[in-house]
Amino acid sequence: MSNQAPLMGQMMNQPLLISGILEFAARHYANSEIVSQRVEGDLHRYTFRECHQRARQLANALQALGVHMGERIATLAWNGYRHLEAYYAVSGSGAVLHTINPRLHPEQLAYICNHAEDQFLLFDFCFLPLIEAIAPHCKTVKGWILLGAADRMPADSKIPNLMCYEDLLAAQSADYAWPQFDESAAATLCYTSGTTGNPKGALYSHRSTVLHAYASALPNVLNVSSRDAVMPVVPMFHVNAWGLPYSVPLSGAKMVFPGAALDGKSVYELMEKEKVTFSAGVPTVWLGLINYAVQNKLKFSSFVRTVIGGSACPPAMMNTLIDDFGVEVIHGWGMTEMSPLGTTGGLLSKHMELPKAEQRKILQKQGHAIYGVDMKIVDELGEELPWDGATSGSLLVKGPWIIASYFKGEGGDVLEDGWFPTGDVATIDPDGFMQITDRAKDVIKSGGEWIGTIDLENIAMSHPGVMQAACIGVPHPKWDERPLLVVVRRAGSTVTREELLAHFDGKIAKWWLPDDVVFAENLPVGGTGKIQKNKLREQYSDYQLPS
Ligand code: ADP
Repeated sequence: MSNQAPLMGQMMNQPLLISGILEFAARHYANSEIVSQRVEGDLHRYTFRECHQRARQLANALQALGVHMGERIATLAWNGYRHLEAYYAVSGSGAVLHTINPRLHPEQLAYICNHAEDQFLLFDFCFLPLIEAIAPHCKTVKGWILLGAADRMPADSKIPNLMCYEDLLAAQSADYAWPQFDESAAATLCYTSGTTGNPKGALYSHRSTVLHAYASALPNVLNVSSRDAVMPVVPMFHVNAWGLPYSVPLSGAKMVFPGAALDGKSVYELMEKEKVTFSAGVPTVWLGLINYAVQNKLKFSSFVRTVIGGSACPPAMMNTLIDDFGVEVIHGWGMTEMSPLGTTGGLLSKHMELPKAEQRKILQKQGHAIYGVDMKIVDELGEELPWDGATSGSLLVKGPWIIASYFKGEGGDVLEDGWFPTGDVATIDPDGFMQITDRAKDVIKSGGEWIGTIDLENIAMSHPGVMQAACIGVPHPKWDERPLLVVVRRAGSTVTREELLAHFDGKIAKWWLPDDVVFAENLPVGGTGKIQKNKLREQYSDYQLPS
């Protein structure tokens, strides 16, 4: 085609802004409910209409506090309606919402607060002691806002400029017009959990967030509709609860927030009470819920679908949820740098006639790319590898909700030829289903060959006596590294090392067999519910494998 200018389309050009999502929900699904298990202990309920009203009051309050466009406003809070109001008021008014993980070490909390240059910090009252500890170290914070009513305010506190959220809102009207600005403006900021080095910031834009929300609600992805009642168990400080605070309102579904109560009993009871149909979380949370339901011989009356991601969903967990509880499991993969969703599992129509065991193998993969995300696997030289379902390589991604550079440019050039290297090692099959074999830093290098740990862990966890398992490489004089399996037994189980090793027979190549098994009371879990393999590696760095 000659290089003439294209003929331009004649459609309205409206920026994709986060405020538009809540505005839409409040206008078109005004009466859809938002139910929150509050840190105060009771259940709070209201509608999208009321949420929109209070979000505008908060936007006015932020303006009265002198917050400017682009300034960072932090939250340290569990999943709940006030946190949702902050999601919309902060980003919607042009400031940047910085969600902080309260499970981080206080020093790390202060580090990211300073790095982000947070101007105000909103927090659940249960975090008062934590705020008291970090406040003197957070140099840029001008005021601390307690997410509660006046009766929760401490009588005396050393926290400077401590304010009451409900009082701030009460002083403002809901008369506020969401500003219109460039959709590429920053909207939210999330830091990676920083298992190595300092945490790095991923700065999402309005455009990337809205596109991610659109795509994630699709039937092939989370399949959220106005008939759903969605409970985000994944915290709102963990990559924006995987986008659910945006994808649920735009779908008109009911939202159910579990607050701080994430134990099996609390999650189960709230699910039943509020007729939750769909939820999302990391495997460790589902472990608690399943154990509670099994121990108490309970079934779910409304819960039919869940997305599990953040770390590999053990096949044994998937089987239990599908076969014993009738809950469809969508395996999801992504990362902070990807907003976070990249792939989700599911079947193609040609798979529908396959035997159940074959179907399960497909569902256990991390899944198919979501429209908007492109991916490829490459070798050490950056050459693209075939999609044959067997060859594994470094996984690279690109798309409009994938990071281009870290906040403040820290971390140097992140892209390789326009692609983001995920740090994961994966295969892709001819139908486009991707399967993670490991994180590059967790892979065990034995005699120049790689051993993927996810497979070994999944096999260990398919033994009925095993509750949790993690496989790590420990130094070996001849092979460099060899696999050591660390196992947490189920209550009452007496499974032995020999029985476990025999359980691997015929399931893997002989040289992949763990050299040893150790039993532990529990495994170290990080702020986002993932097993911390770096801690385990440290703990077992001197471990003497049997020769
Ligand atoms: P962090 O990188 O800070 O731990 P993220 O939540 O961004 O936090 O983690 C992203 C990583 O988690 C991915 O790169 C991948 O290694 C792992 N991960 C996420 N989902 C899955 C999954 N379904 N299966 C296996 N690994 C996963």
